[in-house]
Amino acid sequence: MEPRSAEDGSLELPATSYKPSDDLSLSQMELIERIRWLINLRWLAFVGVVITILATRALFVSSLPWDRLLVTSLAIPAYNLVLLLHWRHVNRAGSRQLERASSRLANIQILCDLVALGTLIHLSGGIENPFGFYFVFHMVIASFLLSVRAAFAQATVAFAIFVSVALGEYYGVLVHYYSPVGVRTPGLHFNGLAVLGSTWVIGTSLYVTVYLATSIATCLRRREDQVTALSHEIKRHADDLQVACDKLAAIEKAKSAYTRKVAHELRSPLAAIDGLLRCVAEDLKGEIADEARETVVQARRRLHELLSVIRDLLALAAATQGKLLGEWESVDIRALLNEVVTQLADSAKERGITIKLEIGRELPEVHGDRKGIEELLTNLIGNAVKYSYANGEVVVRLYWRRKGVQIEVVDSGIGMDEVDKENVFEEFYRAGNAREFTPDGTGLGLSIVKSIVDTHAGSITLESKKGQGSRFIVWLPGIESRQAKRPDV
Ligand code: ADP
Repeated sequence: MEPRSAEDGSLELPATSYKPSDDLSLSQMELIERIRWLINLRWLAFVGVVITILATRALFVSSLPWDRLLVTSLAIPAYNLVLLLHWRHVNRAGSRQLERASSRLANIQILCDLVALGTLIHLSGGIENPFGFYFVFHMVIASFLLSVRAAFAQATVAFAIFVSVALGEYYGVLVHYYSPVGVRTPGLHFNGLAVLGSTWVIGTSLYVTVYLATSIATCLRRREDQVTALSHEIKRHADDLQVACDKLAAIEKAKSAYTRKVAHELRSPLAAIDGLLRCVAEDLKGEIADEARETVVQARRRLHELLSVIRDLLALAAATQGKLLGEWESVDIRALLNEVVTQLADSAKERGITIKLEIGRELPEVHGDRKGIEELLTNLIGNAVKYSYANGEVVVRLYWRRKGVQIEVVDSGIGMDEVDKENVFEEFYRAGNAREFTPDGTGLGLSIVKSIVDTHAGSITLESKKGQGSRFIVWLPGIESRQAKRPDV
C-alpha cells in the first residue's frame, strides 16, 4: 500500500505497513514521512532539469555537452528508483527497522542529490552557472530532517563539491564547458577573483543557511519534546482522574446501597411503633391522661418526620440508581399531572392555595419511569404549595418544546436567594427562610427530582427571588427524540 498525499501537502503513511511505536518522537515520525516526500519531489526535479537543459539548448548559443548533461540528469530517476525500492523494502520489514534506516536513507538521498547537482554544474559552466545556489535548498532540507552535526557535514560535502569544480576548472584539472554566460563573458572560470568570490559566497550561504535552519529546527524540536512530555503528563493525570472517578462512583454506589438497606430496616419497626402509639393516643389500650396523650401525639409527630426522611432516602437511593420501582414505559404526562394535582388538592385547599393548570394541546409522550416522573411532579408541586403564602396561587404549565415536554411550576411564595439557589439540589439542604416558614421538610426532595431528570436525559433550571416566588422549569425528551435510555442497573 502506498502512502498518500494529504490535502495539506503532508504525507500519510500506509496504515497497514507502518505503525510508529508509541515512544517514537514527533521528529522521527516527521523524518519517516519526509523521506517518501523527497522521493516524490525528485521525480519533479528530474522533469525540471530536463526541461531546463532542452530550453537552454534551444534558446542560447553555447557549446555545452548536451548528451552528457542528459545522461547525468537520467541518473536522477535511476537512483531515485533504487531509493524508492529500498524504502519499500525497509517499510515492509517493520517499523523498528524503518526507524533505524530513516536517517541513513535521508543522508544518502541528500548526498546523491549533491553529487548529481555538482556534476550538472560542472557540465554546464562551473562557477559561471547561477544554478550553483541550488545547493542551498538541500541544506534547508538537511537542517530540518537530520541532526545538527549531519546537516553541517552535508554543508561541508556540498562546499567540497563546489570547490572541487571551481578549483578543478581553474587549474585545468577538469575540462571547462562554456555556458551561455561563459560564451558572452569568457574567462570567468580562470579568473582568480571570480573563483574566490563565488566560492566564498556559496560557502558562506551554505553554512549560514545550515546554522540558521538548524537553530530554528532545534528550538522547534525542544518545544516539540516539551509538548510531548506535557501531553504524556496530561494523559497520566487523566488516567489517575479516571481511576479516582471510578472509585468515587463505587463508593457512591456502596453508600446508596447502604442507605437503602438501613432505611429499609428502620422503616418497618418505626411504622410498628407509630401503630402502637396510635393505639395509646386513641385510648384503644385504656384511657390515659390528657397530658400523656399530648406527649404521645408529639412523639408521633416526630416519628412521622423520621418516616418521611426514610421515605425520601429510599426514593433518592432508587432515583440515583435510575429505578423508582417502576419499569420504563411510554408515559402520558398530562394524565399523570392531573392525578398528582388531585392528590395535592386537599393540602393546598387547607391553606387556601389554588393550583392552576395550563396544558398545551399537543404533547409528546415521554419514555421513562412512570413512578419517577410522578415523584418529580409531586415534589415540585408539593414544594410550590408548601412554600407559598396562604391564599396564594401555584401555576403548573405543561407544553411541547424541542421534541419533548416542558413542565413549569410557578409560585409566588417565599422564594430563595442566590446562595440557596446554588445549593437546593444538594442532599439535605434546606434554606434558612424555608426552615423558618415550616419545619416540615427533609431537604431531599429536589435531589430526588434532579436524579430523576438526569436519568431521563432531561434538564432542570430554577429562577427565584427571595420573598417573590420561584419557577422550576423541567424539560424531558419526548419518545420521538429517543434521547432518554433506560440506564443499566
Ligand atoms: P424540603 O423537604 O426541605 O422541601 P427539597 O429538597 O424539596 O426539600 O427542597 C430543598 C430546599 O429548596 C427547601 O428546603 C427550600 O429551601 C428550597 N425550595 C424548594 N422548593 C421551593 C419553592 N418552591 N420555593 C421556595 N423554596 C423552595
